[in-house]
Amino acid sequence: MRERANHPGSDSESSRRSEKQTRMPQASRNLPRVLILGGGFGGLVAAHALRRARVRVTLVDRQNHHVFQPLLYQVATAGLEAPDIGYPLRSALRRQRNADVLMADAERIEPATRTVHFANGNSLGYDYLIVCTGAESSYFGHPEWQADAPGLKSIDDAMAIRARVLIAFERAEQEDDPDVRRALLDFVVVGGGPTGVELAGAICELARHALKRDFRHIDPTQARVLLVEAGPAILPSYPGDLQRKAVAQLEHLGVAVRTSTRVEAIDEHGVVFDGERIAARTVLWAAGVAGTPIARSLGVTLDRHGRVPVSSTLHPEGLHDVFVVGDLAALVQDGHPVPGVAPAAIQEGDYAARAIVRALDGKPIEPFRYRNKGELATIGRSAAVATFPGNIKLSGFFAWLCYLMVHLVYLAGLSARVKVFASWVWSFFTYGRGARLITNPPRELTQPSLRTLPPVGPRREPPSHPVLVH
Ligand SMILES: Cc1cc2nc3c(=O)[nH]c(=O)nc-3n(C[C@H](O)[C@H](O)[C@H](O)COP(=O)(O)OP(=O)(O)OC[C@H]3O[C@@H](n4cnc5c(N)ncnc54)[C@H](O)[C@@H]3O)c2cc1C
Repeated sequence: MRERANHPGSDSESSRRSEKQTRMPQASRNLPRVLILGGGFGGLVAAHALRRARVRVTLVDRQNHHVFQPLLYQVATAGLEAPDIGYPLRSALRRQRNADVLMADAERIEPATRTVHFANGNSLGYDYLIVCTGAESSYFGHPEWQADAPGLKSIDDAMAIRARVLIAFERAEQEDDPDVRRALLDFVVVGGGPTGVELAGAICELARHALKRDFRHIDPTQARVLLVEAGPAILPSYPGDLQRKAVAQLEHLGVAVRTSTRVEAIDEHGVVFDGERIAARTVLWAAGVAGTPIARSLGVTLDRHGRVPVSSTLHPEGLHDVFVVGDLAALVQDGHPVPGVAPAAIQEGDYAARAIVRALDGKPIEPFRYRNKGELATIGRSAAVATFPGNIKLSGFFAWLCYLMVHLVYLAGLSARVKVFASWVWSFFTYGRGARLITNPPRELTQPSLRTLPPVGPRREPPSHPVLVH
């Protein structure tokens, strides 16, 4: 699939030969190519919006699926299965005859030759490029923290966090040192934005309800969850009264909240803030994001979060055949940054597609306007906060219902909606969290040990003497 770069969007001989063997209609092959990098919210909407356009759409993603990121925390805390929130990109575009899906890792964009180079050595030309590769976790100059404080951006991340959380309980069950056992049952979530709030609340619910009766030597309800935020308040984009309500709802669930607290170090033994070490074996990172590295190859100056500053028509400076949308775009509207949320990526992806159609028709392009439809953050069962245009504010049960409904509506695929709805109803009535499998368990949990487990008996609460007999 290696393509020449000197003719935008044109195919090399080898590519033409391979396309003859494909099911792409002959007439489509000479149409302008719109290359979309990233099959997230922005990319998928852009591809769909081009379904009737006289263009060839190529959607490239390093994964073969779209991820519904707002529900990642539920996979990470055993509430949902991974396939419930991932949707195959090929299925999403199955009926769209002008669209092609390519599973590849885009490494570099060469705007001068209108070419994108992939990690596998292939390259592809374009007439129009929509870059929507999103953001990744950022550790504020401390990449070494990542190993001990994983972030939550992909299904792999969610599965890794789920395993880490569940394994902490398994290890605690077999631990005879009370200090180590305490550290295993202490969880720290760094970052008080919506993801941190959701993760902290869900871990608390997992420990206090779903796992409550499952262990014999530890009491999972003794687990402690600490949510730490460097700024003066959690959920910084929400009004002050909703921030206070969110803290109250978190504390009601059992989460301790510390604001104006900056992380200084993270290692395998815990985390240090303001000179104080908290011995927590599970530290999760929800504090910062940065634009995906491919942005650097556009040759424009990026903002301090590695995002691409774009004009009101979503172009990076000087690149009129390139659109950057979603989390990767740094767009300022009426003096305020457009937030990195799914509705912004959806609206921008749709705009970029319509702008390309207008440009091909020789029509002028109106500037993009972001329409804020409100913000929702869930805290736990029957607990959430929400703001909507018109200064409408909700908290508690009704905000939580809105959260569930909105997320069901936006989730891709009818079967996923049905399954997620059924899971939510089931866990609402039973407090159950069914997705609790640990795959690839760590060696020390499965290999023969010199220590033997005590006979199963009534739970000792809290364990006051060695759990394991030598
Ligand atoms: C845990 C979490 C919870 C969230 N909760 C909410 C919420 O409740 N409400 C809300 O509105 N927003 C929420 N967001 C934010 C929202 O998900 C993002 O704003 C939105 O996904 C951005 O869409 P996007 O298209 O820009 O990027 P993404 O959806 O991140 O998609 C980027 C795609 O690009 C692909 N990609 C990246 N790099 C490459 C490469 N080099 N080559 C090929 N493919 C690549 C990725 O695989 C991915 O599929 C949440 C985000 C997270 C992480």
